[in-house]
Amino acid sequence: MSEPLTTLRGVGPQLSKRLQKLGIQQVSDLLFHLPLRYQDRTQLTLISNLQPGSSALVEGVITGCGIRFGKRRSLLCTIEDENGTLTFRLFHFNKGQQAALQQGRSIRCFGEIRHGPSGLEMVHPEYELIDPTQPPPLERELTPVYPTTEGVRQRTLFSLTTQALERALPSITELLPESMLASWPPLPQALQNLHRPDSADQNLPQCRERIAIEELLAHHLSLQTLRHLRKHEHATALPPPDAHIEPFIQHLPFALTDAQRRVIDEITHDLQQPHPMQRLLQGDVGSGKTLVALCAALHTAQSGKQAALMAPTELLATQHHKNLSTLLRPMGIEVGLLVSGMDRAERTNTEQQLNEGALLIVVGTHALFQSSVHFKSLTLAIIDEQHRFGVDQRYALQQKGENGTYTPHQLVMTATPIPRTLAMTFYADLDSSIIDELPPGRTPVQTVTIPDSRRNDVVQRVHANCLQGRQAYWVCPLIEESESLQCEAATDQAQWLQAQLPELKIGLVHGRLSAVEKEAVMSAFHQGVLQILVATTVIEVGVDVPNASLMIIENAERLGLSQLHQLRGRVGRGATASSCVLMYKAPLGKIATERLQTIRNSNDGFEIARKDLEIRGPGELLGRRQTGDQLLRFADLSRDQHLIPVVEKIAPILLREHFQSVNKLIQRWIPNGNKYRSIG
Ligand code: ADP
Ligand code: MG
Repeated sequence: MSEPLTTLRGVGPQLSKRLQKLGIQQVSDLLFHLPLRYQDRTQLTLISNLQPGSSALVEGVITGCGIRFGKRRSLLCTIEDENGTLTFRLFHFNKGQQAALQQGRSIRCFGEIRHGPSGLEMVHPEYELIDPTQPPPLERELTPVYPTTEGVRQRTLFSLTTQALERALPSITELLPESMLASWPPLPQALQNLHRPDSADQNLPQCRERIAIEELLAHHLSLQTLRHLRKHEHATALPPPDAHIEPFIQHLPFALTDAQRRVIDEITHDLQQPHPMQRLLQGDVGSGKTLVALCAALHTAQSGKQAALMAPTELLATQHHKNLSTLLRPMGIEVGLLVSGMDRAERTNTEQQLNEGALLIVVGTHALFQSSVHFKSLTLAIIDEQHRFGVDQRYALQQKGENGTYTPHQLVMTATPIPRTLAMTFYADLDSSIIDELPPGRTPVQTVTIPDSRRNDVVQRVHANCLQGRQAYWVCPLIEESESLQCEAATDQAQWLQAQLPELKIGLVHGRLSAVEKEAVMSAFHQGVLQILVATTVIEVGVDVPNASLMIIENAERLGLSQLHQLRGRVGRGATASSCVLMYKAPLGKIATERLQTIRNSNDGFEIARKDLEIRGPGELLGRRQTGDQLLRFADLSRDQHLIPVVEKIAPILLREHFQSVNKLIQRWIPNGNKYRSIG
């Protein structure tokens, strides 16, 4: 069945290896390696009709050619057709090229049109000198542009896909029930058209959709399969919750929201099943997810079993630890802490207690799934702010179940809502719960954008805010990637602010501080000893100081929407009106402007996530670590949203009636093995 790539003309071991990087392992995989876009060389465009940003084929006469010395030396040619002039620019050129591009000669070139210093230009077009009385024929088909990798040329991919279409297309099988796909062309035809479209073909969008449906379906099914497998795994079924839980809830300083209640009920029900819970809890920043986690952990602990809560940063883990300890100590339940920055002896001690089962609840960072950590009876694993973790880390904690025979129940929490397209394709192994209301009495955060040339106004605003007894964050995310540069920028900013506002107490927190140092600064801020907290994005998630009512974010134009929403979510936690000032460096580009507008106009995390998906694509939204390099090969989650209902309709039919096809489909689209399964 599977034909190795080396049976193709022109493929040796080296090319074969490079193709593997593109997920191409056998001849038939080439059929599913589809063009990203097409170039149209089937017709000439008049220079006066050229559109900047698009590519076009142009023919004209050279009216001048010479070297321009500027910041970069370049060879400039002007080309004229009957009604327009275009500049043609080469940065890399040799004497021969220069000599050939003579005034009066006819030339045909293809490339992208841009605005240049003197009108429209093409930079490094493909070109050929032609005889205008006998011009070479135009191409008959659109030219496909394939996704590629270093060392693999478009021409090579064209030749290989041509061979694959001849050899493998006839044996390609339709795996989906045809009755459901009446609106789309059959698979072989869709593949043929996408690889070698006819310029007159009106059918390309349907062909695209036909393939996108397959791919989305493959991902969905692979997670669904995983979910079915999970249903056969064993988990410890907890008894119904202890009679102490309700009074505990009654004694909280506030009443739970209906949404919190509903979600707690869903989880409580799951925890009593003998199969592992796999639940995604979505709730906007500040919706009170921690309390839901706490109730689940309490249910577990009161049944004599262990629960672990994993957070992405030490800061957040420490804060959770403090909150949980305060609430649970009166019930006689101790909460342990495991982070890498802690004292060695303390850590060993906690590990030992976990091993013996003396400690029933533990909060920590990645340190929780280190090999030195053994739980006596880990029954519930909670992951907070899961968008900061990878899929593999999500599974790693689950490997720590009791005797390796029981899989822990898992609760995954996120404040970055997952749009349905993503949920269907990348979270289909999880059940979903949503907290869709905020606790009462919150006033929405007012958001403004200010160019950083008005820094002094911002400082005055911080000053006024603090004089009223409120507190403020000043976040300095850095343009540079490096952690140490980030810390430096925050340190400088703190010193500068202190000089401006000598009577205020200013603290500083960044990733380079030890856990103890961070904790000291955070608790000083919490207690109101510090009025201003200057920070890097370490405070992005989870930090909860209700008296802080002003958030200043520098370089806001560099941050993604979800990140801005998270940072802003650090204020607006008390009853006072809060605001968020987004400082930016002018001038703003188009995307940055759109982003800042979105965040200014909306406080709704779902709305913001949807926009983020539109602007930046799923990779960013899920987090790079989560997605790896290649999320989807062909489908596009924002463009193909409307296909989700189709996927939803077909998936259960395949699972029920065509199980053979399910595996084949997964193989076809995820040939490197089911990455989800290999981890689970
Ligand atoms: P997130 O969902 O962002 O993790 P948290 O769990 O940190 O939100 O909760 C935010 C704040 O709201 C905390 O100070 C918490 O004590 C408070 N809170 C949680 N639930 C309620 C409620 N039902 N009523 C009032 N305040 C609540
Ligand atoms: Mg939280």
